[in-house]
Amino acid sequence: MNKIKFLGTAGARFVVTRQLRASGGIWFELDDTRFLLDPGPGSLVKCFSSRPKKDPFTLDAIILSHRHIDHSSDLNIMVEAMTNGGFKKRGSVFLPPDAVEKEPIFFKYLYPAIDELVIYEEKSRYKIKNIDILTSRKLIHPVETCGFEFKFSKGSIGYVADTRFFNELVNEFKSDVLIINTVRYDHDPDSSKIIDHLTFNEAIHLIKEIKPKLAVLTHFGMTMLKNKPHELAEKASRQTDIKVICASDGLEIDLDKIL
Ligand SMILES: [Zn+2]
Ligand SMILES: [Zn+2]
Repeated sequence: MNKIKFLGTAGARFVVTRQLRASGGIWFELDDTRFLLDPGPGSLVKCFSSRPKKDPFTLDAIILSHRHIDHSSDLNIMVEAMTNGGFKKRGSVFLPPDAVEKEPIFFKYLYPAIDELVIYEEKSRYKIKNIDILTSRKLIHPVETCGFEFKFSKGSIGYVADTRFFNELVNEFKSDVLIINTVRYDHDPDSSKIIDHLTFNEAIHLIKEIKPKLAVLTHFGMTMLKNKPHELAEKASRQTDIKVICASDGLEIDLDKIL
């Protein structure tokens, strides 16, 4: 059984700090390999409140796209949970370089608890059991950020993490299932500053160009929530001729039905 579960769909600061949406990251089960991507605030709690619950002790890896708190705050406690409180050495942790440099976000006392700490680079290939993980080129975001392609026996899943739009994104994320962090509905018309996040129309552009079998928008800020994600999903599906879902907290996608 191959599936993805959204333990959270919150993006920007207000949605996360007010918990208008949960922020536990995304749980993957592919080819009998389990990993958690971007465990933000409440990830551990969400694992155990999910039905059926997700047991972190079964995780093979924890992966961070970048160090921002909505993606990383539960990293240390999730590593404790993955390793039975540090007593059972197991699992890998994938981090960008700036997560362990000047202001480390991964506690050193946990290093001996895991099998492998991978400080990943852009455009590189790694493995978790039988799953290939390809990092994208560096994304445009205030801290070191990469997206990923996860390749398993039935296909590939692309994860466009937080980034400003740039044209090369289209070539970086060719995949069968495309997950896009879509924080904003549009750029703030009152600000000349372009923020380093994708908008709804930019996500549509990516979907049109990449043509996945399924696209999933997530990581929503206030402007996305105000524009009713379920209506936006219908609009995006019409505009792209591709099935587009706006993720909700707890959404589970059965990949065997799609790929
Ligand atoms: Zn974020
Ligand atoms: Zn971020």
